[in-house]
Amino acid sequence: MHQSALVLFSGGQDSTTCLALALDQYERVETVGFDYGQRHRVELDARQHVLAALRQRFPRWATRLSADHMLDLAVLGQVSKSALTEETSIQMESSGLPNTFVPGRNLMFLTLAAALACRRDLQVLVTGVCETDFSGYPDCRDDTMKAMQLALNLGMAQRFRIETPLMWIDKAATWKLAHDLGGAVMLELVREHTHTCYLGDRSQRHDWGYGCGSCPACELRARGHAAYMAAQLPAALAAGAIPPASSV
Ligand code: ZN
Repeated sequence: MHQSALVLFSGGQDSTTCLALALDQYERVETVGFDYGQRHRVELDARQHVLAALRQRFPRWATRLSADHMLDLAVLGQVSKSALTEETSIQMESSGLPNTFVPGRNLMFLTLAAALACRRDLQVLVTGVCETDFSGYPDCRDDTMKAMQLALNLGMAQRFRIETPLMWIDKAATWKLAHDLGGAVMLELVREHTHTCYLGDRSQRHDWGYGCGSCPACELRARGHAAYMAAQLPAALAAGAIPPASSV
């Protein structure tokens, strides 16, 4: 039985929800983040805010949440150019992939995470990759994850399991999962502290959190939040939490 996990944790909505799920399931959970010369440091700040908020708001998880690791991956900026590390606008490339794609990024993340997990004696690698409504990144696909699990286990003589709890769910379901795990407190933690916006905008607060509101990451997050909230309306009305429109 697996009892410990290493969560690839960026401070975004997806990896924060994965972290909450891991804290719900495993007795010891560590986190790893990567500094690859992101254009916006707010992502790295968000990680610390999320970890602090989880510890403060969820005492039952605080005892399980162990070390946080930060790995320097500046080399990624040397081998590839993308809209995540360069001052350039986000657009689709002729390859059919957005220019936010960094070839092999997730493969490197997983390889380094596995090496770290060896040293820290952690059994499960958790990552928030998703095929459902993401940008078509080939290194987020289920087949890629299965191949990585095999390659890492063969190459490191381990029995790691790579868990991808968000692989087949959409963003609305990711919001619901956060609520299922930690209720309204967890939902608000995700809204307030996680960061998704490609442009690093923390100046505009929307009902789904901070962001420019118009980059692909913001649009995906906002759309998922709207769908999630719309799905909650009938239940909230039935429970009397929201007065019917006719009585307002
Ligand atoms: Zn944005």
